Amino acid sequence: MIAIVKQSASPEQLDQFVSWIEARGYRTNVSRGDNETIVGIIGDTTKIDPFLLESLDIIDQVQRVSEPYKLANRKFHPEDTIVDCGHGVLIGGGHFQVMAGPCSVEGDNLIEIARAVKAAGATILRGGAYKPRTSPYAYQGMGEEGLDLLLEASAELDMPIVTEVMDPRDVQVFVDRKIDIMQIGARNAQNFNLLKEVGKTTTPVLLKRGLSGTIDELLMAAEYIMSEGNPNVILCERGIRTFETRTRNTFDVNAIPVLHHLTHLPVVGDPSHATGYTRYVKAAAFAATAAGADGLEIEVHNCPQEAWSDGAQALVPTEFADAMRRIALIREAITAELE
Ligand code: PEP
Ligand code: MN
Repeated sequence: MIAIVKQSASPEQLDQFVSWIEARGYRTNVSRGDNETIVGIIGDTTKIDPFLLESLDIIDQVQRVSEPYKLANRKFHPEDTIVDCGHGVLIGGGHFQVMAGPCSVEGDNLIEIARAVKAAGATILRGGAYKPRTSPYAYQGMGEEGLDLLLEASAELDMPIVTEVMDPRDVQVFVDRKIDIMQIGARNAQNFNLLKEVGKTTTPVLLKRGLSGTIDELLMAAEYIMSEGNPNVILCERGIRTFETRTRNTFDVNAIPVLHHLTHLPVVGDPSHATGYTRYVKAAAFAATAAGADGLEIEVHNCPQEAWSDGAQALVPTEFADAMRRIALIREAITAELE
């Protein structure tokens, strides 16, 4: 249930209202926007009489919210959330950012790739140090040594890094090492213990949609993180499994505007995992940008044929630079003020 508070209400009246609700055993989420303040009431609200609340002087309107996700719900929080990724980089609410880098951190080539993606306009460096692989015999990642390389590149280039955390026991390591953004991969999108663990931190989380996850399941995964106290969630559409076999996954471009409608959280598109083949990555990146994504995550490798994972979908730096110039033009087209 949400209560929309009148503009005329004083901060003291708002505090009194919140205490009154909380004294009845509910949790609250107060969202102060430029035009309105909304109090989200969380718990079994079937016992609350909405007419009684509406009769209070400071309340404008009360609405029941049927969706099970509350904190991620745009009804509770009409304004776009802007996540601070560190190093002065903001995402969401009109701030568009591109995360780029290799699938896996492999060694000394990381800095070379990082310099190239930064020169092309990427603002966040990606790279996996812990890799979720379908086969236990496939390359599993460099682990902490990989984090070291990412952190060195981050310091040299003054750019935030995003890297996957797979195990709840590693979350504290990521926090201690001051990793800017923790990625939750598609295979862990419903690993509720991991979601809760990253929810206990304030580190931004890039949450990927599950392999066969619905939009509502993605929102509920975000709710797991947010309900533990971490509001800094960025959602990622990375393609879903369908009957189509010509591409690695099927890019659900629809999910981008649908998510913007349902949630205030930033939404990023990942055209690399969504398509699985270098030849389609640019087209999907352009589509995601045109659909209003707040950012992109793109795999880039200096020598894709030698990559330790996902070489088949990597762009080389020159292709990435070309894509970035066209993405900037698409951004201009969709954000232009027209007469
Ligand atoms: C990745 O980003 O390299 C990755 C494994 O992505 P996903 O979880 O979307 O498959
Ligand atoms: Mn990958």
